[in-house]
Amino acid sequence: QVELIDISKSYDKQKSVLDEINLSIEEGEFFVLVGPSGSGKSTLLRMIAGLEEITGGTLKVDKKTVNHLPPKDRNLSMVFQNYALYPHLSVEQNILFGLNAKKVDKKEQRRRLTETAKMMGLDKLLKRKPKELSGGQRQRVALARSVVSEAPLCLMDEPLSNLDAKLRAHMRVEIRRLQKRLGLTMVYVTHDQVEAMTMGDRIMVLNDGKIQQVGKPISLYNEPANLFVASFIGSPK
Ligand code: ATP
Ligand code: MG
Repeated sequence: QVELIDISKSYDKQKSVLDEINLSIEEGEFFVLVGPSGSGKSTLLRMIAGLEEITGGTLKVDKKTVNHLPPKDRNLSMVFQNYALYPHLSVEQNILFGLNAKKVDKKEQRRRLTETAKMMGLDKLLKRKPKELSGGQRQRVALARSVVSEAPLCLMDEPLSNLDAKLRAHMRVEIRRLQKRLGLTMVYVTHDQVEAMTMGDRIMVLNDGKIQQVGKPISLYNEPANLFVASFIGSPK
């Protein structure tokens, strides 16, 4: 369970990027974060990951305050908006990097690698370097690296943005299936309405650092809190 209590963020002393965010994400929930460019989605995700200082409020994971816990102790995985792969390592080494660091045994590493590579359609690319891959292939390596960790909390920032429509539809299903199977708590950022509506147990709409509405896809669609939500969700109202 992830709890945000009066969370705010400002990068400089003047303007706040996030404003009094109050939110509780349940264990095993697929929680989707949507909002326009610059609304604060990545900032929020990076604060949960411990990569960005929290300038106001309290962040709790499983009832414990984790504001100052270093990222490596948070037992979570993250897919970044810009992939952030290691350029000098092969696809395989990139995927297994975290498991090596955590000293997961080799046999277990192999099992997870085989399974994940197959799921992501990367089985034939394991020996390549990131620069020898297309954008969409790189994105799938980043996804695979997160998925193999099997961490209970998973944060994904636009993980499918570079894929074509067909692959995106396929990956939507795969991610959802995996999340269910492992019982992961997911915080998932997307620009894509279809993705938000079909994948999310709940959706949060963010605009200019403020929560516009949080709810099930169907309630946002049927009862948007304001015009902004209505137009963002594509609701008829
Ligand atoms: P996008 O959909 O384009 O990825 P986003 O919702 O993820 O947008 P953020 O990256 O969280 O938006 O940025 C929120 C605001 O914070 C923006 O106005 C951005 O310019 C600002 N910002 C982000 N990172 C920094 C930083 N390191 N220093 C100063 N301002 C920043
Ligand atoms: Mg972003």
